Parts: sequence; structure tokens; C-alpha cells
Amino acid sequence: MTEITRDVLIIGAGAAGTTAANDLRRAGLSVAVLEARDRVGGRLWTDVIDGAMLEIGGQWVSPDQDALKDTIEELGLETYSRYRDGDSVYVGPDGQTHRFTGEMFPVSAETEKVIAEITSLLDAMVAEIDPDQPWAHPRAQEWDTITWDAWLRQQTDDDEAVRNLAFATGSAMLTKPTHAFSLLQSLLMAASAGSYSNLVDADFILDKRVVGGLQQVPVLLAERLGDDVFLNQPVRTLEWSDPSTGSGTQFVIATTDEMTVKARYAILAFAPVLYNRISFVPALPRRQHQMHQHISMGFVIKVHAVYERPFWRESGLSATAFSPYELVHEAYDNTNHGDDRGTLVGFVSDQNADDVFTLTAEERKERILESLSHYYGPEAKNPVVYYESDWGTEEWTRGAYAASFDMGGLHRYGADLRTPVGPIHFACSDLAGAGYQHVDGAIRMGHLAASNIVASSRD
Ligand code: FAD
Repeated sequence: MTEITRDVLIIGAGAAGTTAANDLRRAGLSVAVLEARDRVGGRLWTDVIDGAMLEIGGQWVSPDQDALKDTIEELGLETYSRYRDGDSVYVGPDGQTHRFTGEMFPVSAETEKVIAEITSLLDAMVAEIDPDQPWAHPRAQEWDTITWDAWLRQQTDDDEAVRNLAFATGSAMLTKPTHAFSLLQSLLMAASAGSYSNLVDADFILDKRVVGGLQQVPVLLAERLGDDVFLNQPVRTLEWSDPSTGSGTQFVIATTDEMTVKARYAILAFAPVLYNRISFVPALPRRQHQMHQHISMGFVIKVHAVYERPFWRESGLSATAFSPYELVHEAYDNTNHGDDRGTLVGFVSDQNADDVFTLTAEERKERILESLSHYYGPEAKNPVVYYESDWGTEEWTRGAYAASFDMGGLHRYGADLRTPVGPIHFACSDLAGAGYQHVDGAIRMGHLAASNIVASSRD
């Protein structure tokens, strides 16, 4: 058993953990980063599958994501815009494919009016929400105890309007059924991107990609840490002592199967759904035990289909496609920078994802490609490379994109999410305000945990 001592031990080498470790190093503190997987990056993972470079996890960068953009610039990485020239596609309740331009789906004038009115109302509500403390809103309890679906259905009986409004934070973001999370959780999701309108604007939220893949962010950050990053080291036990409770000197000791790291502080830089994989000695306080049981991962399959050429462009399609009635509820041109081949990316979310995983791999592929063909025509059925990112089977993630509270949990527990427990600090995208559920939020949380530890270590 290797034994080492550092000022701070960080569990998790995703964007949050590698950001925090670099900040702490810069502040003169020594670090060790313990990572369960055999790679750095967590939910950021760029890999070559059957000869195609695919971003299996997170990939897009939006204009409001300053923390991520600063890191990308500082690391010297280049970005490029998502291809978006041409018409978008919408499949309506009649199963017909409609081409359109701009942000509004081609729905009836009446439905369009309802969507516009509710969008304005949501923008006004979101403007009142502080993404760092949505529970502080005077109506937080009321908004956290009605489901997103029920609230929308109180506003209108236009089903097509409800479905289109619902999926922006439902299938497309929290990736849970819209009856499974609250209006407040939905408002937080929108507030974290600046407004509800920003969130539904694909040109905004899915603006840019990094040449070579977004995983380079944690990979380059980890390279700077050199030998202080330890792969294949799932932390099994975390002993800790908090002198403020009268229990001697402050310390944390993390134990993996091969090593022990002793430090003054620890950062848990991974989603709260996995905290219970660690045995804490002594146990975490009652509040944390309760709170962490009310947080769960969403679930979405990210589907990649690569073709010899981006054939949809020839018929004037941008490949941007939406439908709350389709198995693949949204899809985009995801062609890599400088690549002659064309790549489509589509998403199958929450209960649709559950359902297709009851099928054989062949049946699932057929159903998914059939759905893509409704947007782009029969050529979509014959990709040269096909791949489904399934984060549900990943032991050290267990879902996608990120974690959120169940009904009523956000106003009840949210204020304690980031509160350190003695020497143990918490950082990951799932705890963020601005950039919530995104890499930007992971980086913000990494900076925050590091600055809190630096301040505390100087007391
Ligand atoms: P993680 O990346 O989850 O890192 C946590 C790390 O901790 C992991 O490496 C894990 O292995 C490790 N770990 C866990 N438990 C232990 C333990 N006991 N011991 C040691 N190590 C442990 N975001 C965007 O901004 N844009 C996008 O386009 C986007 N698309 C996405 C698409 C998909 C399919 C997915 C899955 C996510 C997407 N996201 C996107 C979200 C984004 O990728 C994540 O929010 C972000 O990468 C999370 O970073 P993190 O450091 O907080 O956590």
C-alpha cells in the first residue's frame, strides 16, 4: 500500500476536480487527484470508434459560459461553430415533416401565440431566480411542489404547445420525464443559462465545439499536475476529523485498493449520486444522508451516426431537427472540424431511453435510425459508423447528463448542497448555479471549492 501526504486530496479527475487541483497548486498547496477510471475527464470523453472521432460525453460551448471559455482560451484550444446553414426540421403530431427557419417551430398561429406568451411568462419568472440560490425566491416552495408538466398544463390546454415548451428543460436538459421534477427545478435550469429563451435557442446553447474534442480541457489540466494524478484509484473509504467539533486535529485520509492519501482537506469532485460509494468514517451528518437521497441522475442516449458525406446539406438542411413526438427528440449536424464525412448526433431521452434498452441492439439501432430518417430521409438509415453513448452503464457516472433534485427537494435541501462538512468540500457541475449541469458549471464549482479551501487554510 503506497502512502502519501498532501495538503488537499481531490477525488475525481473530471473538469471540476482538475480545475480545483490547478487552482490549489497555484495557491501553493500540494495536491493528489484520485480517479476511479483509467482515464481523465469523467463525463468528457473523446474517442475513436470504428475510425470516427466521437465526443461520447459533453461537447458544446455556449456564449454565456465564461468560466469554460476562459479555460479553453487559457489552454490554447481552438473552437469552431456548429454547422447551421439551411432549414431546420420539425415533425408535428400528424407525423408530417416540416421545414422551417428561425427559432419558432412551424405550428399553427394559435399554438405559436400560446408558446410565445408562456415563453414571455417563463422569461419573467426566470429573471427573478438567482441560479445560485433558487430556494431563496419567495415562491420557491410553491414552485418546487408542482411538477413542470402540471404547471404548463395549468397555463394552456394546447397539448402541442405544452410538449414543445416542456422538452426544453425536460428531454433536452434534465433528461427526466416532465412529471418527475418541479417547476422550480425547471426555472433553475433556465436561469443557469441566463433565460428560458436562451435555453430553447439551439444556436445559443449549442454554439461552438472545441477542435479535437472538449475532453482536452480536463486532459490538459491534468497534464499540468503530472504525477499528482492517480488513475484506477476508486476511493473506497474517507476518514475525516473536524476539530471544530472537538475531535482533535483536522485531517482526511482517502483509501483506495492500492494507496492511502492523507491531507488536510478533501474535495469530492463528482456527482452526489455517487457519494454513497464511499464509506465515510465517521459517517456524514444526517442532513447530507437525507439530502443525497433526493438527488438522481437523468438519462439520455447520445446517438452518433457518421455518413460518407453530409448528405442533408445537399438538400438545404442544417440538420437541426426537433420533435416532441419522435423517439429522437432532437438532432444536429455534428460533423467534426475539417472532416469530409458527415456526422449526425441525436438524443433519446428518459422513458424513451428506458424503452429502447428493452430491445436488442439491432432493434434499437433500427428504431433510432428510422426516427432520424423522418427528419432527413431514407439515407439516414445507412450510416458507416453508428454508436450509442450509454452513460447509464458507466459505474462511475450512472446516467446523463447530470443530477437534479426530485420533487420538492430543491427548496428543501438546495441551500446545503455545497456546504462543506468539516474538511470535506464538494464540487461538480451538478451543484452549480450558472452553468448548472454543464462543463462551465463544473469549472465554476472547481474554482469555488479551491478558493474556499485556500481561504480556510490561511485562517
Ligand atoms: P465528472 O465529469 O462526472 O467527473 C467526476 C469524476 O469522478 C469521474 O471521472 C469519476 O470517474 C470520478 N469518480 C467518481 N467517484 C469516484 C471515487 N469514488 N473515487 C475516485 N474517482 C471517482 N456539458 C456541456 O457543457 N456541453 C455539452 O454539450 C454536454 N453534453 C453532454 C453529453 C453527455 C452524453 C453527457 C454525459 C454530459 C454532457 N454534458 C455537457 C455535461 C458535462 O459533461 C458534465 O456536466 C461535466 O463534464 C461534469 O464534470 P464534473 O467534473 O463535475 O464531473
